[in-house]
Amino acid sequence: MQKITGKLYSAGSNASTNCTMHCCSEQLTLVSDDGVELLMPLADVRLGIAISGQAQDITLPDARRFLPDDVNFRLNSGSEFIERCEKHKVLVLSSIVLCPLLLYWLFFVAVPNMAASAVTLLPQSVAEQTGEQSMLMIEKLALEPSELNPEQQVEINVLWQHSLAQLQLDNEKYRLGFYRSDYFGANAFALPHGQIVVTDALVKKLADHPKALRAVLLHEIGHVEHQHSMRIAAQSVASTVALAVVFGDLQGIAELTLGVGSAIMQQQFSQDMERQADDFALYNLEKHGYKAADFATALRLISQERKSEQDDWSKYLSTHPQVESRIERALHYQQAQ
Ligand SMILES: [Zn+2]
Repeated sequence: MQKITGKLYSAGSNASTNCTMHCCSEQLTLVSDDGVELLMPLADVRLGIAISGQAQDITLPDARRFLPDDVNFRLNSGSEFIERCEKHKVLVLSSIVLCPLLLYWLFFVAVPNMAASAVTLLPQSVAEQTGEQSMLMIEKLALEPSELNPEQQVEINVLWQHSLAQLQLDNEKYRLGFYRSDYFGANAFALPHGQIVVTDALVKKLADHPKALRAVLLHEIGHVEHQHSMRIAAQSVASTVALAVVFGDLQGIAELTLGVGSAIMQQQFSQDMERQADDFALYNLEKHGYKAADFATALRLISQERKSEQDDWSKYLSTHPQVESRIERALHYQQAQ
């Protein structure tokens, strides 16, 4: 039988009386200095958390609390392992170093990756809403009405509709728009809901090479099909997206709009994403009777132009890196059977 001295505190008060506790395997007895005895089954009391340097307190069923005088007092042995860890200097030092690393990994690697994967679980309406809002933002900031002549636009639209039909894509979802843009220069980009924007400068640069323009359009469709801009935005608003998917609350999803808008303005697609969009274009060019080399032609024209006109094309190339290896890949592309 254990015999422990300590103080018995009234519930919700710091008034206390001196007590002695007797404890056996199933029963606990508290005897106060003035002789009052309290008996109760051990199963009815609640044991406090054992913290190194502090006695383990015991809460009685009527909410009174007994605090032993001996700071090393432990009624149960379950906490010994944790206590040993708390006293182990190497473990304590390691945890000081590892905890920030773990938090960094959690917030900057795990949660963003989880959010990027979760994008596929978001309903189409989120992509729709996000895309439309982003388009409004980009239009306001960087796009002007197109100055292309109507015949030129019709010609490209025919090519566009034909490509959509071949890819069996919904022409309600996929829309092509022409804009003049000093910010984007000769460029094309896609919004998550299927809006593809082609700048006047890009159309002019590829005016004699419609097949090359088709290849660029397929590349942009590839970005939409793989939800690239949504993924980038989701990574930047990771916790919001993760919570939205876990709890089904889509209110905070509005933050995605800002994320998508700035991702497109800065064109932050990773090399893996560009490769995926390239593969989409190359695969479909070959599948529908064109040539993967058409994409190489587009890239080559771009890189030739870059040598003579730094400003326009360098922007496209800076966002579509490693152009030489991509040209090589397009030229040697063979569709996997
Ligand atoms: Zn791209």
